Amino acid sequence: MAKDQEVERIAKKLDKMVHKKNTDGAIDLLRELKNMKMSLETLQSTRIGMSVNAVRKQSSEEEVQTLAKTLIKSWKKLLDGAEGKAAEEKKKEVSPLRSSMSTDSPGSSDRSKKQPLPETPKTPTTPTTPKFTSFPPAPVTTDTVRTKCRELLEAALQTDGDHITIGADTEHLAAQIEDSIYQEFRSTDQKYKSRLRSRISNLKDPKNPDLRRNVLAGNISAERIANMAAEEMASAELKEMRKALTKDAIREHQLSKVGGTETDMFQCGKCRGKNCTYTQVQTRSADEPMTTFVLCNGCGNRWKFC
Ligand SMILES: [Zn+2]
Repeated sequence: MAKDQEVERIAKKLDKMVHKKNTDGAIDLLRELKNMKMSLETLQSTRIGMSVNAVRKQSSEEEVQTLAKTLIKSWKKLLDGAEGKAAEEKKKEVSPLRSSMSTDSPGSSDRSKKQPLPETPKTPTTPTTPKFTSFPPAPVTTDTVRTKCRELLEAALQTDGDHITIGADTEHLAAQIEDSIYQEFRSTDQKYKSRLRSRISNLKDPKNPDLRRNVLAGNISAERIANMAAEEMASAELKEMRKALTKDAIREHQLSKVGGTETDMFQCGKCRGKNCTYTQVQTRSADEPMTTFVLCNGCGNRWKFC
């Protein structure tokens, strides 16, 4: 727990540097991180990867870039290791079922028949904890058409400035969506372009802000929006909306002052200030209340309530 707070402290400092576009002293923080033994839990709860990656992009110092890359690489390994383990465990769950069917000896057949068969593990349609939305970085592209499409997608995601209140990395999200579409067509032909065009127009649609907000909040994954049917995108009652937002979907330590609607309806729990900005997201079926993301303009504190 104490280490989480330590990493969180560094993440906040790094975010502030990126926000102020001044990364002086970043190298010391990165060195501090390098000397820490990072756990998967800490990585996921603090989202330090996003902060380090943002500093890497911002800084022009070679030393900062190299160390940031090294850190991200080593954390990525940790993440891959955990995913590998999860896959292995799944295999283990399935194997008792197979063995109980094949090694049915005559003497034990009665007993084995009464034994309830282990249930086949259900494959979740969406991961319970969202993966890093901006870490590891999305595949880089040098193709001008692809780059242009990513820019248009990013602009669409930034409509109304909800991404700031929600705390989403739109550059990375756009890259992930574009890459997903590119991987399907393996070309930037007419099909690829029309697929992208329909994503962009739906994400910008002023009549359907919930689609964009759910993509920003991670309720609808990049892969999902990449091949959603037009009717699905237009529907206000998307299945994904029923999935409640998790705390991980919100970047709490990103400071910003624009986007969303300004209000004095809320009071910040940290600084008691009342100058806040909020964005509402319809996350579940339409008859349930909305989730409200609030950003304190005084101290940058973020919170949400349903
Ligand atoms: Zn505050």
